[in-house]
Amino acid sequence: MTPKPRPTRAPIEVPAISEDNEFVGLGLVPAIAAAVEAKGYTQPTPIQSEAIPVILSGRDVIGSAQTGTGKTAAFSLPILQKLGEHGPLRCLILEPTRELALQVDEALQTYGKFVDLSATVIYGGVGYGSQRDAIASGLDIIVATPGRLLDHIEQRAISLSGIQYLVLDEVDRMLDMGFLPDVKKIIGMCPTERQTLFFSATIPPELEGLTKWCLRDPHTIEIGRRRSAAETVSHAFYPVVESQKFALLENILESTNYESVLIFCRTKHGADFVANRLERKEHKVAVMHSNRSQSERTEALKGFKSGKYEVMVATDVAARGLDIQGVTHVINYDTPLHPEDYVHRIGRTGRAQTEGDAYTLLTEEEMKYAFAIERFINQKIERRKIEGFPYVYSAVFASQEAAPATVFRSRLYRGSKERR
Ligand code: AMP
Repeated sequence: MTPKPRPTRAPIEVPAISEDNEFVGLGLVPAIAAAVEAKGYTQPTPIQSEAIPVILSGRDVIGSAQTGTGKTAAFSLPILQKLGEHGPLRCLILEPTRELALQVDEALQTYGKFVDLSATVIYGGVGYGSQRDAIASGLDIIVATPGRLLDHIEQRAISLSGIQYLVLDEVDRMLDMGFLPDVKKIIGMCPTERQTLFFSATIPPELEGLTKWCLRDPHTIEIGRRRSAAETVSHAFYPVVESQKFALLENILESTNYESVLIFCRTKHGADFVANRLERKEHKVAVMHSNRSQSERTEALKGFKSGKYEVMVATDVAARGLDIQGVTHVINYDTPLHPEDYVHRIGRTGRAQTEGDAYTLLTEEEMKYAFAIERFINQKIERRKIEGFPYVYSAVFASQEAAPATVFRSRLYRGSKERR
């Protein structure tokens, strides 16, 4: 069972806070506000301004805001403050992918550097040993993907009976069909007397009705229109026939002044195919999908972040949450089947007020998905043709009209985990 807390550490010296640190006005104590300032932020983003006081007051929250607008800090800062000092395991944050879990754990280490709290990250695809050691050392917070967390619970290494704060990050993904059975099981093991926080860039309105069983009188915070794409990203569709997709991709890469590019494919096989062909053309390419080993995934992401690879080809396993500086372009080699995935994929660029471009290759068969995306983000996306490209004619070129009315089915209760 979960070990007893470790002894508390010696008091940590908190640096002075500057006068323009507006996090203090939200009710955050100096130890937390100073850590945010040390990271370089003194002005809260809109989701932080709204969510932090509400979370501090103890209310459940459903929070939505565009990609890249500081949702992680919006829930991490008040939770760190509410936990106060070291004690038993009291906070669980669930994430849909291993990389996102690692990223949120890193943020907690950064924002919690002046408080005596311990957090670790639990995810699959790696050995159990170091995770067991971390658990045994006494933790206040666990950031986890559901499958591996359940393994540790079954092995009686972790008990959730003391959880007071439960966060479902990327909540619409966590509650879709692939994750739902595991997530339901996990929530069922947490005490009913707890504070529950839901966050995502895409929260369908029906989610509130579907989640009454796990929320208590939630306060809903919506920054911008629900489901809207990042404002700092410009969009374009590139109509093309299937047989010319790779040639068009090459042409786009040649004619684009990019720093680093994230290319999304629908399948793992497709991602390998595109990556191999780009490598043969002398591009430095990382690949990320769920058939790669965890060490390959970690190396790919690290190399992409450091600039070792100028291109990363990925499936939707990289679509959500990843905060990678300097991604100037997202290219959808395949049009995403679900409009939420479009919003998350293109949200890997244009983060924290930087600008980005999102290009989507569009075949005739994919036109219905393109219309669905336009309806979803309530925005007509420009169709672009590349001057001088030897296009083979396709009916997709004739489709310049506005999107027809399309009925959406939410992806809630659909899909499967880790297939991508
Ligand atoms: P997130 O949406 O949580 O992934 O955050 C997106 C990016 O914004 C990350 O690089 C954060 O470090 C950064 N960020 C978070 N809060 C702020 C803030 N108050 N001011 C500026 N950038 C921030």
